[in-house]
Amino acid sequence: MAIYRALVPMVIDPIRTALLPYSARLEKRVPSDVDLVVIHCTELPDLQTAREYGERIHHAASGTGNCGHLYIDRDGRTESWVELDRVAHHTRGYNQRSIGIELVNEGRWPDWLHSVHQDMSEPYPEVQIEVLLNLIEELRRKLPALRWIEGHENLDREKVPATDDPARQVFRKRDPGPLFPWRKVLASSSLERLAG
Ligand SMILES: [Zn+2]
Repeated sequence: MAIYRALVPMVIDPIRTALLPYSARLEKRVPSDVDLVVIHCTELPDLQTAREYGERIHHAASGTGNCGHLYIDRDGRTESWVELDRVAHHTRGYNQRSIGIELVNEGRWPDWLHSVHQDMSEPYPEVQIEVLLNLIEELRRKLPALRWIEGHENLDREKVPATDDPARQVFRKRDPGPLFPWRKVLASSSLERLAG
C-alpha cells in the first residue's frame, strides 16, 4: 500500500479537500482496481445540505455514512470528501470498484418518492459539466484502470412504494436524470457507458 500511496495522490488538487469525519474508517482498496465512475446528483438544494446528509452515520458497525468521493457545486467549485483509495457508500453493489461523483442539483427534492414529483427539472450548468469533464480526465491519469462511466439510475433500478400512495411504485434512484448531458460527456471523455 505504501507504493500506491506514492503513485496515487490521495486527493486531487487544486480541489478543496474537505474529508468527511469518518473517511478514515472507510475500507481501503487498491486504486488500480477502480474502473468505474458513477455520476450522481445530490437531490438536495445546496452543497451545505449535502454535507449534512453525508456526515450522517448510517452504518453503525463501521461508524460511516453514505457519500460520494467528489462533489461539484453549480458554479464548478469542487470538494473532495473521501480519498480515492477508500470505498465510499454511494451505489449499492458497485462501491468497491467505483468513484462516486456528486453534482449539486435539486433532483426530486424535497419529495423524492412522491408519485407526482418524479421530474428532474433543474438543468446542469455548463460550468458544472466542464469541471466534471476535466475531473474525469484527471481521474483517468490517476487511476489507470478507469474505463467505465454510468449514472446511478442505471445501476440501481429498484422500485419502492410512493410515499403518497403505497400502491404506486417509483424508482428509488433517478439521478443524475434525463437532463444530464450524456452525449456531451461521452463525446468529451474517453470513458464508455457500463450499462449501455
Ligand atoms: Zn446517486
